[in-house]
Amino acid sequence: MVQDTPIIELANVDRSFSGRSKTVEALRDFTLDLRDGEVLTIVGPSGCGKSTLLNILARLEKPTGGTLSFRGVDAEKSGVQIGYVTQSDTLFPWRTLLGNVEYPLEIRGVSKNVRRERAMSLLERVGLAGFEDRLPFELSGGMRQRGNIVRALVYDPDIVLMDEPFGALDAQTRLLLQDQLQRLCAEERKTVVFITHDLQEAIALGDRVVVMTARPGRIKMIRTVGLERPRDLNHIHEIPRFQELLSELWDCLRDEVLLAGQGSGK
Ligand code: ADP
Ligand code: MG
Repeated sequence: MVQDTPIIELANVDRSFSGRSKTVEALRDFTLDLRDGEVLTIVGPSGCGKSTLLNILARLEKPTGGTLSFRGVDAEKSGVQIGYVTQSDTLFPWRTLLGNVEYPLEIRGVSKNVRRERAMSLLERVGLAGFEDRLPFELSGGMRQRGNIVRALVYDPDIVLMDEPFGALDAQTRLLLQDQLQRLCAEERKTVVFITHDLQEAIALGDRVVVMTARPGRIKMIRTVGLERPRDLNHIHEIPRFQELLSELWDCLRDEVLLAGQGSGK
């Protein structure tokens, strides 16, 4: 019974923002279930409500319609733990990398030794051992982003939300981080909702890929990727199934990007 209950259940979720002169409808009728341990990737044109959706999942914003449940319990009452890697780099500039990664454990009252061990273990697994005493400004963009990611994983949340985490990185760093992320999430058995503007990244990392429409954001297409794990991200592009998905999803996404660009999505 418990296993059949989705960890995330969005049912007919709407979200509008009321301004002084007009109301912006960001999300409309969003219905989606996620299984435990699933990695769901989402692509959609800019401004289609992707960050709004993650903010709702993070319980930072409430839907204006519909319901959100975690493991069958209303989101407001659910004790499910959520890690969130937002679009901007949110490391505290005055704390060392280790101090940043330990922070979520510190505020939960975890003892110093335990939190140090857990934080160091994660930093090692993303190749950051030796950098733990650096301040954020002394680290590269890719290193800071790995810091943001392990900080979201350190207290072992059930669900991890990521909003275009690799958007600002160069192609080589991005590939390295994608690979570390896929291993880390598999080892830690996380349920992940991952937003990206890169369709290839969405296919490479996802169990399922969602394409959203231009605003108001709705689900336009969902595809199961069906490539076995662990995936060799250096050569995944050569697999026919990858090419087939890329072409199908791009045909679908392109129309929405064009619509959004014309302002018809408003
Ligand atoms: P995306 O992440 O897909 O680029 P967002 O979710 O950030 O899109 O935004 C979707 C739409 O909702 C945009 O038109 C945006 O301006 C609007 N929006 C988002 N947050 C707010 C807010 N707090 N107040 C008013 N409008 C908002
Ligand atoms: Mg966004």
